[in-house]
Amino acid sequence: MSSDRVLCIEGLCARVGDTHILAGIDLEVRPGEVHAIMGPNGSGKSTLSHVLMGRPGYEVTAGTVTLDGTDLLALAPWERAQAGLFLALQHPTEVPGVSLESMLVEAAVAGGRDPDGIRAALVVEAERIGFDEKFLDRPVNVDLSGGEKKRNEALQMSVIRPSYAVLDEIDSGLDVDALAAVARRVQDATDETGLGVIVITHFSRLLEVLEPDRVHVLSHGRIHTSGGPELAEQLEAEGYTGILGEAVDVPEVAVELGPGPDPFADPLG
Ligand code: ADP
Ligand code: MG
Repeated sequence: MSSDRVLCIEGLCARVGDTHILAGIDLEVRPGEVHAIMGPNGSGKSTLSHVLMGRPGYEVTAGTVTLDGTDLLALAPWERAQAGLFLALQHPTEVPGVSLESMLVEAAVAGGRDPDGIRAALVVEAERIGFDEKFLDRPVNVDLSGGEKKRNEALQMSVIRPSYAVLDEIDSGLDVDALAAVARRVQDATDETGLGVIVITHFSRLLEVLEPDRVHVLSHGRIHTSGGPELAEQLEAEGYTGILGEAVDVPEVAVELGPGPDPFADPLG
């Protein structure tokens, strides 16, 4: 595996409207590595994931992001996906009228891959993470519970086989068994296909199976502290105040944002 393969984030600053959220993020993720991002509510974790994938409304004001040498920020979101980036959203979007299988077939065709094996891959991967086959024919994420949506995101990642995945609180809403199965699947992908992972989480339980090479604590849009897996355990024991000290000062307005404006919304509706 050549050493120039890396997802490289340098000095990344971003804002939404007049609100500056990311204040200089530096992060390098190599194939097979797992980087955990932790941090208080409102510290900018989901914003980082949105900016990496190119969500409209998030403006990069400084910095660069390259994926295996490609300037990611110059690409549209779908081109970023084709370049090998996958994002599992904190709040997965429901897409009525579009089946999971047809979406993945289109993704394969757009990426120049043979779509013939998609159904078989879906069945195998669903089994691997204990996701009931009856969900495979539903429209994407429609009428799924919170935890089922998260498993659905993991399933898509497994079938698409991206080079790098950003998983935003993939563990939230999962029961203990599902959490272990999803974490195991992602960990296996790091070994089997060299998946590089940025995993955003609040809980060290996920990181007991999906073993992080590095743990980064985000605060006010910056990486405040980085360390090994022991940092996640320290966080669990001491809370964010223990690590960040006075720096943990989450603005009162900080809330876990919902899905936000729907990019697929009917402009007339
Ligand atoms: P985290 O995922 O770490 O909880 P977010 O990245 O969702 O935090 O949010 C970071 C901060 O940016 C919060 O204060 C949030 O209210 C604000 N923010 C994020 N997205 C938007 C947006 N689209 N419009 C206005 N404020 C936003
Ligand atoms: Mg978030």
